[in-house]
Amino acid sequence: MYNRLIMSDVARIKILPEAVASAIAAGEVIERPASVVKELVENALDAGATRIAIEIDQAGTARIAVQDNGHGIHSDDVVLAVERYATSKLQSPADLFNIRTLGFRGEALSSIAAVSRLELITRSHDEARGTHLKVEGGEILDKGSIGSPPGTHVTIRDLFFNVPARRKFIKSERTERRRINQVVHRFALANPQVAFSLSQEGRQSFESSGSGDMREILARVFDLELAREMIELPVSDGGEYQIHGFVSPPHLNRSNRQEITFFVNGRWIQDAGLKAAVLQAYHTLLMVGRYPITVLSLKLPPDQVDVNVHPAKAEVRFQAPQKIFSLLQRAVRATLLGQAAPPRVNFQDRWQGLTSEDSHDWQ
Ligand code: ADP
Ligand code: MG
Repeated sequence: MYNRLIMSDVARIKILPEAVASAIAAGEVIERPASVVKELVENALDAGATRIAIEIDQAGTARIAVQDNGHGIHSDDVVLAVERYATSKLQSPADLFNIRTLGFRGEALSSIAAVSRLELITRSHDEARGTHLKVEGGEILDKGSIGSPPGTHVTIRDLFFNVPARRKFIKSERTERRRINQVVHRFALANPQVAFSLSQEGRQSFESSGSGDMREILARVFDLELAREMIELPVSDGGEYQIHGFVSPPHLNRSNRQEITFFVNGRWIQDAGLKAAVLQAYHTLLMVGRYPITVLSLKLPPDQVDVNVHPAKAEVRFQAPQKIFSLLQRAVRATLLGQAAPPRVNFQDRWQGLTSEDSHDWQ
């Protein structure tokens, strides 16, 4: 059974051996402010945080700050944390096939530090004082001891100040803010037991209580009506593959596929096969050109899914994709048919106006 690994102790950071580093699907992970937010929140979640506060100024170009109450970084490891391929999450090449954390490549902090002014304040639970580190464009400027609550507070200022070319690729502030909202929404949907708060330009734009109630998150990400009407998949049987989550009833739909959301072992991913399986499950229930809203979470043994195939870790490779697709299709279909509103018309009316093709679905 899969359980995300949250390290209860402060795991120590090591530089990955060459063999592991070269097996990593490395890439430019930091494309835009939202990628910084994603990487910093992943680190907070991997550290077991139950409260994560995110603050954004000028759509993340001026300041991105993420504060967590996770296990913190040991004072001796703080400098290592911003080095390339330095991670506490992988020990050997074999671990790459049994990933239980969101991060594992040890390159996010170093990539971010290389293109910004980074300030890190962290205190591990087993130390009395915190550590403070300042890095600019990859160069360590200052390190010292500082009073701090347990946990980690990372502040990124002036993103891409030294890479004007990258700055040019940043879209309008509005677009970047929307992307940041979207990233935080996904984390909240995948982690209802964690309290998130996001404030953009000094105004709170998202908040979740961490109560574990998925309908609360659905209401905050979408709206109250949708949260009320989304249909929950029945609890799965505890088999090797588990699917749970929420699907929209056919009358609540969208004109695009963007709200068909998947998480695999707690990680938001995109997958054409999973999407097709969901669309198949809605077949004949939705008009052509209309798409459902889904928040579906798949849990499978970590060795059944390769998460090291995409630079931004936004895609995975399943060992038995067909099995997963058909399981998903059947689970969603059964949920939708089981919840179909009881016919309000008499039996005869019910069959009127249906083509023979539609009628299959009423059996
Ligand atoms: P990765 O997450 O792939 O290990 P990162 O560059 O994101 O690589 O982080 C490097 C290391 O720094 C992590 O392995 C972890 O030990 C430590 N770290 C980073 N952020 C945090 C945090 N918020 N809380 C605790 N430890 C952290
Ligand atoms: Mg990371």
